[in-house]
Amino acid sequence: MGITPTMGIPTNATIATDMSDIAIELQAPDITPYRRSTTGVDWIHTLDSGKPGPHVLVNALTHGNEICGAIALDRLFRMDVRPVQGKLTLAFANVRAFERFDTRNPYASRFIDEDFNRVWTRATLDGPRKSAELERARELRPFVEQADFLLDIHSMLEPSPPVMICGPLEKGIRFAFDVGVPEHIVSDTGHSNGTRMRDYGGFGDPASPKNALLVECGQHWERASEHVAWQTVWRFLRHTGAVDRAQAEEQIDRAAPPRQKLIRVTDAVIASTPSFRFARPYTGLEIVPRRGDVIAWDGSQPVVAPYDNCVLIMPVPNNIKTGLTAVRLGRLENA
Ligand SMILES: [Zn+2]
Repeated sequence: MGITPTMGIPTNATIATDMSDIAIELQAPDITPYRRSTTGVDWIHTLDSGKPGPHVLVNALTHGNEICGAIALDRLFRMDVRPVQGKLTLAFANVRAFERFDTRNPYASRFIDEDFNRVWTRATLDGPRKSAELERARELRPFVEQADFLLDIHSMLEPSPPVMICGPLEKGIRFAFDVGVPEHIVSDTGHSNGTRMRDYGGFGDPASPKNALLVECGQHWERASEHVAWQTVWRFLRHTGAVDRAQAEEQIDRAAPPRQKLIRVTDAVIASTPSFRFARPYTGLEIVPRRGDVIAWDGSQPVVAPYDNCVLIMPVPNNIKTGLTAVRLGRLENA
């Protein structure tokens, strides 16, 4: 998620200047040691235990400026992590965009030509269209197709609590609860302008045992997102059985995490005028208590909560463009 045009945030070319005061607390890692690979595809490494077991894929840099995932992979490589069964693939996806990462203009490196996380259908990947992201997605595709389990690591433009995006299927929801963090789980159907990697192929098929999660670790460059990514990776690796359990326990926080909450997305609020504005400065995951409460104003029209305890998911506070999603609404379950 994050900075896609459909989410109503400016594209690479236009930067929300009023957000330029967000501190860059994380340092983009040097990933050049991970370029060459025995897989034959740069930046994608498959570690084989030589034993039967699932193929587990941890993917970072689907979006080039979301660096907490790259930091987690760099740490895994430096620990020389190895699978104890099956295969473990560690992938840096949109490296070309990441290579443009510049702390003086950190918003400009989300992608080169288009959103890497909207091209994941067979028709698009098999089709004639060309872009930097499609070229890379076609390289990554065989690994995604071989994977039984995927964790795709992201972060968000707006400062907001972390969320696990588990897709629309019950198997994805179960997977998110099994991993156990972060606290908030969002079940959704994705985006109308393209398909995400986590919804591709067997991941989006209720009859397939394959399963995928997308974690949004917090704001792109805040210190906490690095910790969220690290904890999520190790809990994911432990649950899938990819790594030595004792090794995972050493990395996982001792304190029990908060009980998870499931939010099912019901609506997308589309801005229909240039003067869409929220009633209050929301940052995400706020609960609007009563049906009919005003969430925002779209021109002179109020946008109201359609039901009690309506959760606001990743609101876009600045420069919302007409026709684009300003916020998604969800129902809180097991509250
Ligand atoms: Zn992202």
